[in-house]
Amino acid sequence: MYNTVTDIIQSLKNKFPFFGINKTRELSRLVFEISKREKADFEDIIKRIEEFDYEKVKNSLLKRRYPKTYGVIPKNSFYLPDININADEKADLKNKNFYPKNIYYTKDVINSNLYCRIKTLYPDAIFCEIESLKSFLRENKFSVSGYNKRKENLFLINEKYDFFKPCPCTKNVFCCNYSILNTGYGCLYECSYCFLQGYQNVSGIVLPCNISEFLDIDKIKPVNNNLFDLPRTGSGEFTDSLLFDDITLFSNEIVGFFKKNKNICFEFKTKSVNIDNLLKLGGSSNIVVSWSVNSEKMIEENEHCAPKLKDRLLAAKKCVQAGYSVGFHFDPVIFYSGWEQGYKKTIDDIFDFIDGKYIKWISIGSLRMPAALKKVIENRFVENTILDEELLLSHDGKLRYETSLRISLYRCLLEQIRMRSEKVPVYLCMEDINVWNLSKFKFKK
Ligand code: SF4
Ligand code: SF4
Repeated sequence: MYNTVTDIIQSLKNKFPFFGINKTRELSRLVFEISKREKADFEDIIKRIEEFDYEKVKNSLLKRRYPKTYGVIPKNSFYLPDININADEKADLKNKNFYPKNIYYTKDVINSNLYCRIKTLYPDAIFCEIESLKSFLRENKFSVSGYNKRKENLFLINEKYDFFKPCPCTKNVFCCNYSILNTGYGCLYECSYCFLQGYQNVSGIVLPCNISEFLDIDKIKPVNNNLFDLPRTGSGEFTDSLLFDDITLFSNEIVGFFKKNKNICFEFKTKSVNIDNLLKLGGSSNIVVSWSVNSEKMIEENEHCAPKLKDRLLAAKKCVQAGYSVGFHFDPVIFYSGWEQGYKKTIDDIFDFIDGKYIKWISIGSLRMPAALKKVIENRFVENTILDEELLLSHDGKLRYETSLRISLYRCLLEQIRMRSEKVPVYLCMEDINVWNLSKFKFKK
């Protein structure tokens, strides 16, 4: 793969010596993607190009790369960045253990329970005091290869500002007014589509030592919304909610707080099965443990270090038995050959494991990503297939499937869910009202 890109550029230069560097780069992106998607020899693709005029060459390649959308959508929706695939940036999927080599902490955390626990749990780690995370980041330049080694570094800090805030959502969509409780940064599950790999600027896992300061009813004020009876907030945006719970024991404080504040729904959003602490604490119906789920094929191919679907569903069943509500997020729904059967099976598995009356909500969102994430994914997960589909630039700078494809995905999943439950609330994440309506979703309480 690493040599292929150079070879593609050289072959294009040989065939079209009169094209400038930018034109050659753009064509090399198309040849690279066609070759990967069709498992075709790039030499053969280039040899068969019959045109010599640049626009005609580009159009013939675009038509082959985007057979469903070429001629249907504006040409500037095709995102064709240059290719820089670097072997050093490949994700490390072998080492699944978490035992940080370096633990960086700020002076103000040394009396916290979390700092003391970490000292006991990781006696062989090197502890190093830092002035602040910000100053550390100024002095240590972030890189994707550093990000790949993030499980070696743990940062313990006191969070000052970013603990509770509205979900960032995106422009021109029906926003569900969710709010986020930020219990850390960084995750170990290595999902190929993870937005954190293009967002996180820290080569490490960051855990706040002062969450109790923020579990205060004057500071947590989620807004009401059109979808649910209670305002909703939850963790799991910038890290998995439960992945580190055996280390942090954050659930002790969170569950205790929301058991006393039953007028708010709190959600632990996770792919983990790290639920022992939750089970000991016992739940309450306003506390929702929710799992991101996918078809088994997509879990196998993309959620490299996360628990299997069956294990997530077993954990969900135990949480129901312990008094929690549960939720499920089909996010991201990925288009591939056989997607209908794959997602139908997951929906059936959910309802075979869990009685629908305990399911507080199911959300659905299709694969989307900031455009810049494409290059990060193709470097970290060279063999990914999620980028092979037709992902197009949208109004908000994100890559998404074309609208009619998204609508068919949503309609199909909604129909399958409704065959198993008439009542479970189902909503779309990051979609505009037209797509809600065309997918036959209702958005009023
Ligand atoms: S629709 Fe999705 S992204 Fe938007 S606020 Fe709700 S949860 Fe957040
Ligand atoms: S579980 Fe979520 S946060 Fe963790 S790697 Fe996967 S997508 Fe990213």
